Amino acid sequence: MRLDADVLVIGGGMAGAVAALAARDGGARVVLARRAPGATALSSGAIAVAPDPGASPDEPLAWRRGPLEAARRLAARRHDHPYAVVGSAGLWRLGEALGFVARSLDGLLAPALERPRFLATPFGTAAGVALCQRSMEAGDLLAVPGPLTVCGFAGHLAFDAELVAAGLGRYTARGGPDVIAAQVGLPFDDPAARPHELARALERPGAAERLGEALRATPGIGGAGTVLLPPVLGLDPAARVPERIAAAAGVPIAETLSDVPSVPGLRLHAALEARLRAAGVAVLGGAVSGAPLPGAAVDVGGTAVVAGTWILASGRFVGGGVARRGVLLDPAFGLAVQAAEGREAGVHLALRPAASLTVRDRRSPQPLLSAGLRVDAALRPLDARGRPVHPRLLAAGAIIGGHEQATDGTGLGVAILTGFLAGRAAAGGLA
Ligand SMILES: Cc1cc2nc3c(=O)[nH]c(=O)nc-3n(C[C@H](O)[C@H](O)[C@H](O)COP(=O)(O)OP(=O)(O)OC[C@H]3O[C@@H](n4cnc5c(N)ncnc54)[C@H](O)[C@@H]3O)c2cc1C
Repeated sequence: MRLDADVLVIGGGMAGAVAALAARDGGARVVLARRAPGATALSSGAIAVAPDPGASPDEPLAWRRGPLEAARRLAARRHDHPYAVVGSAGLWRLGEALGFVARSLDGLLAPALERPRFLATPFGTAAGVALCQRSMEAGDLLAVPGPLTVCGFAGHLAFDAELVAAGLGRYTARGGPDVIAAQVGLPFDDPAARPHELARALERPGAAERLGEALRATPGIGGAGTVLLPPVLGLDPAARVPERIAAAAGVPIAETLSDVPSVPGLRLHAALEARLRAAGVAVLGGAVSGAPLPGAAVDVGGTAVVAGTWILASGRFVGGGVARRGVLLDPAFGLAVQAAEGREAGVHLALRPAASLTVRDRRSPQPLLSAGLRVDAALRPLDARGRPVHPRLLAAGAIIGGHEQATDGTGLGVAILTGFLAGRAAAGGLA
Protein backbone atom coordinates (compact mmCIF):
# COMPACT_ATOMS: atom_id res chain seq x y z
CA MET A 1 0.00 0.00 0.00
CA ARG A 2 1.20 3.55 -0.77
CA LEU A 3 0.28 6.73 1.12
CA ASP A 4 1.05 10.19 -0.29
CA ALA A 5 1.23 13.11 2.13
CA ASP A 6 2.75 16.55 2.46
CA VAL A 7 4.39 15.84 5.81
CA LEU A 8 5.71 12.67 7.47
CA VAL A 9 6.24 12.97 11.23
CA ILE A 10 8.42 10.30 12.83
CA GLY A 11 7.54 9.92 16.52
CA GLY A 12 4.31 9.92 18.49
CA GLY A 13 5.34 11.71 21.70
CA MET A 14 4.47 15.30 22.52
CA ALA A 15 6.83 16.78 19.88
CA GLY A 16 5.62 14.55 17.06
CA ALA A 17 1.95 14.92 17.98
CA VAL A 18 2.16 18.72 18.21
CA ALA A 19 4.11 18.90 14.93
CA ALA A 20 1.50 16.74 13.20
CA LEU A 21 -1.43 18.73 14.62
CA ALA A 22 0.17 22.09 13.78
CA ALA A 23 0.91 20.98 10.20
CA ARG A 24 -2.60 19.56 9.81
CA ASP A 25 -4.08 22.76 11.21
CA GLY A 26 -2.06 24.60 8.55
CA GLY A 27 -3.73 22.56 5.80
CA ALA A 28 -1.15 19.80 5.26
CA ARG A 29 -1.89 16.12 4.66
CA VAL A 30 0.02 14.46 7.49
CA VAL A 31 1.17 10.91 8.25
CA LEU A 32 2.58 10.20 11.72
CA ALA A 33 4.68 7.04 12.19
CA ARG A 34 5.44 5.90 15.69
CA ARG A 35 6.94 2.77 17.09
CA ALA A 36 5.56 2.98 20.64
CA PRO A 37 4.75 5.48 23.39
CA GLY A 38 7.84 7.48 24.40
CA ALA A 39 8.97 9.60 27.36
CA THR A 40 5.79 11.67 27.07
CA ALA A 41 3.80 8.73 28.44
CA LEU A 42 6.18 8.49 31.42
CA SER A 43 6.01 12.18 32.32
CA SER A 44 4.35 13.54 35.43
CA GLY A 45 1.43 14.61 33.26
CA ALA A 46 2.08 18.34 33.64
CA ILE A 47 4.03 20.55 31.27
CA ALA A 48 7.17 22.23 32.51
CA VAL A 49 8.36 25.07 30.29
CA ALA A 50 11.18 26.63 32.32
CA PRO A 51 11.96 27.32 35.95
CA ASP A 52 12.58 30.98 36.77
CA PRO A 53 16.39 31.18 36.53
CA GLY A 54 16.55 34.31 38.71
CA ALA A 55 14.36 32.99 41.55
CA SER A 56 15.74 32.53 45.05
CA PRO A 57 14.75 29.34 46.87
CA ASP A 58 13.02 31.01 49.83
CA GLU A 59 11.09 33.79 48.11
CA PRO A 60 7.27 33.76 48.01
CA LEU A 61 5.90 31.51 45.27
CA ALA A 62 3.90 34.44 43.90
CA TRP A 63 7.12 36.25 43.00
CA ARG A 64 8.05 33.62 40.43
CA ARG A 65 8.07 34.85 36.84
CA GLY A 66 5.66 33.34 34.37
CA PRO A 67 6.82 30.53 32.05
CA LEU A 68 7.24 32.77 28.98
CA GLU A 69 9.50 35.28 30.75
CA ALA A 70 11.40 32.43 32.45
CA ALA A 71 12.01 30.80 29.05
CA ARG A 72 13.29 34.11 27.62
CA ARG A 73 15.70 34.50 30.55
CA LEU A 74 16.92 30.92 30.17
CA ALA A 75 17.54 31.48 26.45
CA ALA A 76 19.57 34.61 27.24
CA ARG A 77 21.81 32.59 29.59
CA ARG A 78 22.15 29.38 27.59
CA HIS A 79 22.98 29.98 23.93
CA ASP A 80 22.98 26.28 23.06
CA HIS A 81 19.51 25.61 24.54
CA PRO A 82 16.75 25.01 21.94
CA TYR A 83 14.89 28.09 23.29
CA ALA A 84 17.92 30.15 22.20
CA VAL A 85 18.63 28.22 19.01
CA VAL A 86 15.18 28.98 17.53
CA GLY A 87 15.94 32.71 17.88
CA SER A 88 13.85 35.39 19.54
CA ALA A 89 11.22 35.22 16.75
CA GLY A 90 10.81 31.49 17.35
CA LEU A 91 10.72 31.76 21.14
CA TRP A 92 8.21 34.59 20.83
CA ARG A 93 5.71 31.97 19.60
CA LEU A 94 5.94 29.89 22.80
CA GLY A 95 2.70 31.36 24.17
CA GLU A 96 0.93 30.64 20.88
CA ALA A 97 2.28 27.06 20.95
CA LEU A 98 1.09 26.47 24.52
CA GLY A 99 -2.32 27.93 23.66
CA PHE A 100 -2.54 25.63 20.64
CA VAL A 101 -1.84 22.57 22.79
CA ALA A 102 -4.25 23.66 25.54
CA ARG A 103 -7.02 24.11 22.95
CA SER A 104 -6.16 20.87 21.15
CA LEU A 105 -6.36 18.89 24.42
CA ASP A 106 -9.20 20.92 25.87
CA GLY A 107 -10.86 17.96 27.61
CA LEU A 108 -7.63 17.11 29.43
CA LEU A 109 -5.71 20.32 30.09
CA ALA A 110 -6.69 23.36 32.13
CA PRO A 111 -6.11 26.71 30.37
CA ALA A 112 -2.73 28.32 31.07
CA LEU A 113 -2.32 31.15 33.57
CA GLU A 114 0.25 33.91 33.18
CA ARG A 115 2.01 32.62 36.31
CA PRO A 116 3.15 29.03 36.90
CA ARG A 117 0.90 26.72 38.88
CA PHE A 118 2.67 25.12 41.85
CA LEU A 119 1.72 21.46 42.06
CA ALA A 120 2.72 18.80 44.56
CA THR A 121 4.99 15.95 43.55
CA PRO A 122 4.71 12.54 45.26
CA PHE A 123 7.94 13.46 47.09
CA GLY A 124 6.46 16.49 48.84
CA THR A 125 8.08 19.16 46.69
CA ALA A 126 6.22 21.68 44.54
CA ALA A 127 6.89 21.95 40.81
CA GLY A 128 6.09 25.13 38.88
CA VAL A 129 4.32 24.11 35.67
CA ALA A 130 2.98 26.00 32.64
CA LEU A 131 0.10 23.65 31.84
CA CYS A 132 -1.52 20.95 33.92
CA GLN A 133 -4.31 18.43 33.66
CA ARG A 134 -7.73 19.48 34.93
CA SER A 135 -7.45 16.73 37.55
CA MET A 136 -4.49 18.62 39.09
CA GLU A 137 -5.74 22.20 38.83
CA ALA A 138 -7.39 22.45 42.27
CA GLY A 139 -4.07 21.47 43.91
CA ASP A 140 -2.29 24.69 42.83
CA LEU A 141 -0.68 25.77 46.10
CA LEU A 142 -1.45 29.44 45.39
CA ALA A 143 -5.13 28.77 44.74
CA VAL A 144 -6.18 26.33 47.49
CA PRO A 145 -8.94 28.06 49.47
CA GLY A 146 -8.19 26.91 53.02
CA PRO A 147 -6.23 23.94 54.32
CA LEU A 148 -4.90 21.25 52.00
CA THR A 149 -5.47 17.68 53.16
CA VAL A 150 -3.05 15.20 51.62
CA CYS A 151 -4.93 11.92 51.74
CA GLY A 152 -3.40 8.51 51.07
CA PHE A 153 -5.20 5.22 50.52
CA ALA A 154 -4.81 2.55 53.23
CA GLY A 155 -2.68 -0.25 51.80
CA HIS A 156 -1.55 1.75 48.74
CA LEU A 157 2.20 1.79 49.31
CA ALA A 158 3.13 3.98 46.32
CA PHE A 159 2.02 7.18 48.09
CA ASP A 160 3.07 8.37 51.55
CA ALA A 161 0.64 11.10 52.63
CA GLU A 162 2.67 11.97 55.76
CA LEU A 163 5.80 12.52 53.70
CA VAL A 164 4.01 14.61 51.06
CA ALA A 165 2.26 16.72 53.71
CA ALA A 166 5.50 17.31 55.65
CA GLY A 167 7.23 18.44 52.45
CA LEU A 168 4.41 20.72 51.34
CA GLY A 169 4.26 22.30 54.79
CA ARG A 170 7.55 24.01 53.96
CA TYR A 171 5.72 26.11 51.35
CA THR A 172 3.20 27.56 53.82
CA ALA A 173 5.56 30.41 54.72
CA ARG A 174 5.97 31.15 51.01
CA GLY A 175 2.27 31.59 50.31
CA GLY A 176 1.13 27.96 50.23
CA PRO A 177 -1.77 26.62 52.32
CA ASP A 178 -1.68 24.93 55.73
CA VAL A 179 -1.23 21.21 55.11
CA ILE A 180 -2.42 18.14 57.01
CA ALA A 181 -2.18 14.40 56.28
CA ALA A 182 -5.02 11.86 56.33
CA GLN A 183 -5.78 8.36 55.18
CA VAL A 184 -8.90 6.75 53.76
CA GLY A 185 -9.81 3.13 52.99
CA LEU A 186 -10.41 2.41 49.31
CA PRO A 187 -13.92 1.13 48.60
CA PHE A 188 -12.77 -1.90 46.59
CA ASP A 189 -10.83 -5.09 47.08
CA ASP A 190 -7.22 -4.52 46.18
CA PRO A 191 -5.64 -1.28 47.43
CA ALA A 192 -2.20 -2.72 46.58
CA ALA A 193 -3.09 -2.87 42.88
CA ARG A 194 -0.80 -1.10 40.43
CA PRO A 195 -1.54 2.59 39.70
CA HIS A 196 -3.22 2.03 36.31
CA GLU A 197 -5.37 -0.75 37.84
CA LEU A 198 -6.52 1.59 40.62
CA ALA A 199 -7.23 4.24 37.97
CA ARG A 200 -9.41 1.85 35.98
CA ALA A 201 -11.16 0.63 39.15
CA LEU A 202 -12.07 4.22 40.07
CA GLU A 203 -13.67 4.73 36.65
CA ARG A 204 -16.25 2.00 37.30
CA PRO A 205 -19.84 3.07 38.04
CA GLY A 206 -20.20 3.97 41.72
CA ALA A 207 -16.50 3.58 42.67
CA ALA A 208 -15.56 7.28 42.62
CA GLU A 209 -18.78 8.12 44.47
CA ARG A 210 -18.01 5.55 47.21
CA LEU A 211 -14.52 7.01 47.62
CA GLY A 212 -16.04 10.49 47.89
CA GLU A 213 -18.43 9.31 50.59
CA ALA A 214 -15.54 7.68 52.48
CA LEU A 215 -13.67 11.01 52.30
CA ARG A 216 -16.70 12.88 53.58
CA ALA A 217 -16.80 10.53 56.57
CA THR A 218 -13.07 10.94 57.31
CA PRO A 219 -12.39 13.19 60.33
CA GLY A 220 -10.85 16.53 59.33
CA ILE A 221 -12.04 16.40 55.71
CA GLY A 222 -14.98 18.42 54.55
CA GLY A 223 -15.90 22.03 54.89
CA ALA A 224 -13.29 24.45 53.54
CA GLY A 225 -10.12 23.33 51.84
CA THR A 226 -9.02 20.88 49.18
CA VAL A 227 -8.15 17.18 49.24
CA LEU A 228 -5.01 16.06 47.43
CA LEU A 229 -5.05 12.39 46.35
CA PRO A 230 -2.53 10.01 44.73
CA PRO A 231 -2.27 10.40 40.93
CA VAL A 232 -4.60 7.55 40.00
CA LEU A 233 -7.83 9.45 39.26
CA GLY A 234 -8.84 7.53 36.13
CA LEU A 235 -7.13 6.91 32.81
CA ASP A 236 -9.94 8.34 30.70
CA PRO A 237 -10.84 12.00 31.41
CA ALA A 238 -14.34 11.28 30.07
CA ALA A 239 -14.93 9.07 33.15
CA ARG A 240 -14.77 12.31 35.21
CA VAL A 241 -13.30 10.58 38.26
CA PRO A 242 -12.10 13.74 40.12
CA GLU A 243 -15.41 15.50 39.52
CA ARG A 244 -17.41 12.50 40.79
CA ILE A 245 -15.25 12.15 43.91
CA ALA A 246 -15.55 15.89 44.58
CA ALA A 247 -19.35 15.86 44.23
CA ALA A 248 -19.68 13.01 46.72
CA ALA A 249 -17.06 14.34 49.15
CA GLY A 250 -18.30 17.93 49.09
CA VAL A 251 -14.78 19.37 48.70
CA PRO A 252 -12.53 20.20 45.73
CA ILE A 253 -10.30 17.26 44.73
CA ALA A 254 -6.91 17.22 43.01
CA GLU A 255 -4.28 14.61 42.32
CA THR A 256 -0.52 15.13 42.66
CA LEU A 257 1.94 14.93 39.81
CA SER A 258 3.16 11.38 39.23
CA ASP A 259 6.38 9.42 39.37
CA VAL A 260 6.75 6.44 37.00
CA PRO A 261 4.66 4.47 36.20
CA SER A 262 2.53 7.53 35.52
CA VAL A 263 -1.23 7.38 35.10
CA PRO A 264 -1.35 11.10 34.13
CA GLY A 265 1.43 10.42 31.57
CA LEU A 266 -0.60 7.59 30.04
CA ARG A 267 -3.65 9.87 30.04
CA LEU A 268 -1.66 12.53 28.18
CA HIS A 269 -0.47 10.00 25.62
CA ALA A 270 -4.01 8.68 25.05
CA ALA A 271 -5.37 12.21 24.64
CA LEU A 272 -2.72 13.04 22.02
CA GLU A 273 -3.52 9.88 20.06
CA ALA A 274 -7.26 10.62 20.15
CA ARG A 275 -6.69 14.20 19.01
CA LEU A 276 -4.46 13.11 16.11
CA ARG A 277 -7.13 10.79 14.80
CA ALA A 278 -9.89 13.37 15.26
CA ALA A 279 -7.81 15.92 13.33
CA GLY A 280 -7.41 13.58 10.36
CA VAL A 281 -3.74 12.68 10.81
CA ALA A 282 -2.99 9.19 9.45
CA VAL A 283 -1.31 7.39 12.37
CA LEU A 284 0.79 4.34 11.45
CA GLY A 285 2.43 1.90 13.87
CA GLY A 286 5.97 0.91 12.98
CA ALA A 287 9.60 1.98 13.12
CA VAL A 288 11.26 4.03 10.40
CA SER A 289 14.85 3.02 9.86
CA GLY A 290 17.66 3.33 7.35
CA ALA A 291 15.42 5.77 5.57
CA PRO A 292 16.38 7.83 2.54
CA LEU A 293 15.66 11.55 2.63
CA PRO A 294 12.37 13.48 2.20
CA GLY A 295 10.64 12.94 -1.12
CA ALA A 296 11.59 9.25 -1.39
CA ALA A 297 9.27 6.42 -0.33
CA VAL A 298 9.84 5.04 3.15
CA ASP A 299 8.36 1.86 4.60
CA VAL A 300 6.26 2.16 7.76
CA GLY A 301 4.90 -1.21 8.90
CA GLY A 302 4.22 -2.33 5.29
CA THR A 303 2.94 1.03 3.98
CA ALA A 304 5.12 3.03 1.59
CA VAL A 305 4.86 6.66 2.66
CA VAL A 306 5.90 9.48 0.34
CA ALA A 307 6.07 13.01 1.74
CA GLY A 308 8.02 16.12 0.72
CA THR A 309 8.80 17.20 4.30
CA TRP A 310 9.83 15.02 7.22
CA ILE A 311 9.84 15.97 10.86
CA LEU A 312 12.04 13.78 13.04
CA ALA A 313 10.59 13.71 16.56
CA SER A 314 11.95 10.39 17.77
CA GLY A 315 12.87 11.45 21.31
CA ARG A 316 16.10 10.63 23.10
CA PHE A 317 17.19 7.51 25.02
CA VAL A 318 13.69 6.58 26.26
CA GLY A 319 11.94 7.24 22.95
CA GLY A 320 14.70 5.66 20.89
CA GLY A 321 15.85 8.73 18.94
CA VAL A 322 19.38 8.51 20.36
CA ALA A 323 21.08 5.19 21.09
CA ARG A 324 24.35 4.31 22.78
CA ARG A 325 26.06 1.55 20.83
CA GLY A 326 29.69 2.12 21.63
CA VAL A 327 29.14 5.61 20.25
CA LEU A 328 26.09 7.88 20.46
CA LEU A 329 24.00 7.81 17.32
CA ASP A 330 20.60 8.41 15.78
CA PRO A 331 19.71 4.82 14.86
CA ALA A 332 17.05 5.74 12.29
CA PHE A 333 19.09 7.91 9.92
CA GLY A 334 22.65 7.98 11.23
CA LEU A 335 22.50 11.74 11.82
CA ALA A 336 25.34 13.23 13.86
CA VAL A 337 24.82 13.51 17.63
CA GLN A 338 26.78 16.63 18.49
CA ALA A 339 24.85 18.80 20.95
CA ALA A 340 24.61 18.67 24.75
CA GLU A 341 24.42 20.96 27.76
CA GLY A 342 27.27 22.42 29.72
CA ARG A 343 29.59 23.64 26.96
CA GLU A 344 29.77 20.10 25.58
CA ALA A 345 29.16 20.18 21.86
CA GLY A 346 30.73 19.20 18.58
CA VAL A 347 31.41 16.16 16.47
CA HIS A 348 33.70 14.65 19.12
CA LEU A 349 30.77 14.23 21.54
CA ALA A 350 29.33 11.06 20.03
CA LEU A 351 32.72 9.37 20.07
CA ARG A 352 33.50 9.99 23.74
CA PRO A 353 33.10 7.07 26.19
CA ALA A 354 29.72 7.37 27.90
CA ALA A 355 31.34 7.42 31.36
CA SER A 356 33.20 10.61 30.44
CA LEU A 357 29.89 12.32 29.63
CA THR A 358 28.51 12.20 33.18
CA VAL A 359 29.52 14.26 36.20
CA ARG A 360 29.32 13.23 39.84
CA ASP A 361 27.02 16.04 41.03
CA ARG A 362 23.65 14.79 39.85
CA ARG A 363 22.19 18.31 39.76
CA SER A 364 24.83 19.48 37.29
CA PRO A 365 24.25 19.30 33.55
CA GLN A 366 24.94 15.76 32.35
CA PRO A 367 26.24 15.85 28.77
CA LEU A 368 25.20 12.22 28.21
CA LEU A 369 21.58 12.86 29.15
CA SER A 370 21.29 16.02 27.04
CA ALA A 371 22.99 14.61 23.94
CA GLY A 372 21.14 14.97 20.66
CA LEU A 373 21.09 16.59 17.25
CA ARG A 374 22.31 20.10 16.61
CA VAL A 375 19.83 22.15 14.57
CA ASP A 376 19.72 25.62 13.01
CA ALA A 377 17.11 28.28 13.77
CA ALA A 378 14.79 26.67 11.21
CA LEU A 379 15.08 23.35 13.14
CA ARG A 380 17.01 21.62 10.34
CA PRO A 381 19.48 19.02 11.70
CA LEU A 382 23.09 19.93 10.94
CA ASP A 383 25.77 17.59 9.67
CA ALA A 384 29.26 17.34 11.11
CA ARG A 385 30.31 20.38 9.07
CA GLY A 386 27.43 22.49 10.36
CA ARG A 387 25.34 22.39 7.16
CA PRO A 388 21.64 21.40 7.02
CA VAL A 389 21.32 17.72 6.14
CA HIS A 390 18.34 18.43 3.85
CA PRO A 391 16.22 21.57 3.34
CA ARG A 392 12.97 19.70 4.08
CA LEU A 393 14.17 17.56 7.02
CA LEU A 394 13.26 19.14 10.38
CA ALA A 395 13.66 17.97 13.98
CA ALA A 396 11.55 18.56 17.09
CA GLY A 397 11.55 17.59 20.76
CA ALA A 398 14.05 15.62 22.78
CA ILE A 399 16.03 14.43 19.73
CA ILE A 400 17.38 18.00 19.70
CA GLY A 401 20.27 18.17 22.17
CA GLY A 402 21.25 20.92 24.57
CA HIS A 403 18.48 20.52 27.14
CA GLU A 404 17.50 17.97 29.78
CA GLN A 405 14.37 17.86 31.89
CA ALA A 406 16.04 16.58 35.04
CA THR A 407 18.50 19.48 35.25
CA ASP A 408 16.84 22.37 33.41
CA GLY A 409 13.12 21.54 33.68
CA THR A 410 12.31 22.30 30.03
CA GLY A 411 11.24 18.85 28.69
CA LEU A 412 7.69 19.09 27.39
CA GLY A 413 8.02 22.85 26.84
CA VAL A 414 10.79 22.25 24.29
CA ALA A 415 8.73 19.46 22.69
CA ILE A 416 5.74 21.79 22.34
CA LEU A 417 7.63 24.83 21.02
CA THR A 418 9.80 22.94 18.52
CA GLY A 419 6.94 20.64 17.46
CA PHE A 420 4.70 23.64 16.84
CA LEU A 421 7.36 25.58 14.90
CA ALA A 422 8.31 22.55 12.81
CA GLY A 423 4.68 21.71 12.02
CA ARG A 424 3.85 25.28 11.04
CA ALA A 425 7.01 25.55 8.91
CA ALA A 426 6.20 22.26 7.17
CA ALA A 427 2.68 23.43 6.33
CA GLY A 428 3.93 26.90 5.38
CA GLY A 429 6.07 25.47 2.61
CA LEU A 430 3.08 24.00 0.77
CA ALA A 431 2.23 25.37 -2.64
C1 LIG B 1 10.54 9.55 33.56
C2 LIG B 1 10.40 10.89 32.90
C3 LIG B 1 9.60 11.87 33.48
C4 LIG B 1 9.46 13.12 32.88
N1 LIG B 1 8.64 14.05 33.45
C5 LIG B 1 8.44 15.25 32.82
C6 LIG B 1 7.51 16.19 33.35
O1 LIG B 1 6.87 15.93 34.36
N2 LIG B 1 7.34 17.38 32.72
C7 LIG B 1 8.03 17.68 31.58
O2 LIG B 1 7.83 18.77 31.03
N3 LIG B 1 8.91 16.80 31.04
C8 LIG B 1 9.11 15.59 31.63
N4 LIG B 1 9.99 14.69 31.11
C9 LIG B 1 10.65 15.01 29.84
C10 LIG B 1 9.65 14.84 28.71
O3 LIG B 1 8.84 13.71 28.97
C11 LIG B 1 10.36 14.68 27.38
O4 LIG B 1 11.26 15.76 27.19
C12 LIG B 1 9.34 14.70 26.25
O5 LIG B 1 8.33 13.75 26.49
C13 LIG B 1 10.01 14.41 24.92
O6 LIG B 1 8.98 14.31 23.96
P1 LIG B 1 9.35 13.80 22.52
O7 LIG B 1 8.07 13.79 21.74
O8 LIG B 1 10.48 14.56 21.98
O9 LIG B 1 9.88 12.29 22.71
P2 LIG B 1 9.12 10.98 23.22
O10 LIG B 1 7.93 11.28 24.02
O11 LIG B 1 10.17 10.11 23.79
O12 LIG B 1 8.58 10.32 21.85
C14 LIG B 1 9.44 9.72 20.92
C15 LIG B 1 8.58 8.98 19.91
O13 LIG B 1 9.38 8.59 18.78
C16 LIG B 1 9.11 7.22 18.47
N5 LIG B 1 10.25 6.69 17.71
C17 LIG B 1 11.57 6.69 18.08
N6 LIG B 1 12.32 6.18 17.07
C18 LIG B 1 11.45 5.87 16.07
C19 LIG B 1 11.61 5.31 14.77
N7 LIG B 1 12.80 4.98 14.29
N8 LIG B 1 10.50 5.12 14.01
C20 LIG B 1 9.26 5.45 14.47
N9 LIG B 1 9.06 5.99 15.71
C21 LIG B 1 10.14 6.20 16.49
C22 LIG B 1 8.87 6.60 19.83
O14 LIG B 1 8.25 5.34 19.69
C23 LIG B 1 7.96 7.68 20.45
O15 LIG B 1 6.66 7.56 19.95
C24 LIG B 1 10.16 13.42 31.69
C25 LIG B 1 10.98 12.44 31.09
C26 LIG B 1 11.09 11.18 31.68
C27 LIG B 1 11.97 10.14 31.02
